[in-house]
Amino acid sequence: MNDQPRITFLGQSGFLLETSDFTLLIDPTNKKSGDYSGDLVYCTHEHMDHVGGVEVFMERNPQAILLGSENVTKKFSIYGDRTVTCEDGGTFEKSQWHLEFKRLRHGFFKGVINLGIVVTLGEFGFAHCGDAVSFDGFPTSPVNVLAVPIGGGFAAGPGKALNFIQQLSEPLPTIVPMHWVFRNPRGFCKKVTETVPNANCIVPTKGEPLKGFD
Ligand SMILES: [Zn+2]
Repeated sequence: MNDQPRITFLGQSGFLLETSDFTLLIDPTNKKSGDYSGDLVYCTHEHMDHVGGVEVFMERNPQAILLGSENVTKKFSIYGDRTVTCEDGGTFEKSQWHLEFKRLRHGFFKGVINLGIVVTLGEFGFAHCGDAVSFDGFPTSPVNVLAVPIGGGFAAGPGKALNFIQQLSEPLPTIVPMHWVFRNPRGFCKKVTETVPNANCIVPTKGEPLKGFD
C-alpha cells in the first residue's frame, strides 16, 4: 500500500512512523528513543515512560511540535508555542496526516489524562491505546495496525487486552502488543491467534521496522 508509513518500535510504548517527507514520534520512553529527526512528537500521557525522549527530540529538531493533553503540554511549557494541546475527540492535521484523539481510562491515577491516538494517512490507519485499562469506542475508525498495552498495573494486562481484541469488528487490524513490562508478548500473540479467528498478531522488535501486516 502506497500510503503505508514505516513503523519502527522503540521499546515500551514508543513508535516512530515515517514517510519520505514526514516523521511522527509517539511515546518516546527514554533519551535514546527521542534521538530521531522528525516533525512531531505525540505523548499519550504525561508519565515518564512515555515522555522520556521529548527533550532530546525537541532539541534535535528545532521546528518540531509537541502534541499532548494539557498535562503533557504543561509539563513541557518551556517549549511555549511549539506545543499543541489536544483533547478527547479532537483532531490535528499536518501534511497528509490526520490525527484523532480519544480518552481511554488509565489505571490507578485519577488525574492522568490518557489520550489514545488514531493516525490516518490516506488509506492507512494506525491506532495506539497509550496506557489504557478500558477501550470503549476505540479505535474511532477501522485501522490496519493497533498497538495494545499488555503489562498490567497502570495499563491493561493480557486478559483485558485479549477481551478487547475479541470485541473488535472485521476487518481486524494487525495487533501489536506493547508496554509488556514483565509479561510475555509472544505468549500473548499465541493466545490471540488461538482465540480470535483471522487475527494477525506481531511482536515488534525494538529498533526494527514492523513487518508482516497490510
Ligand atoms: Zn506507561
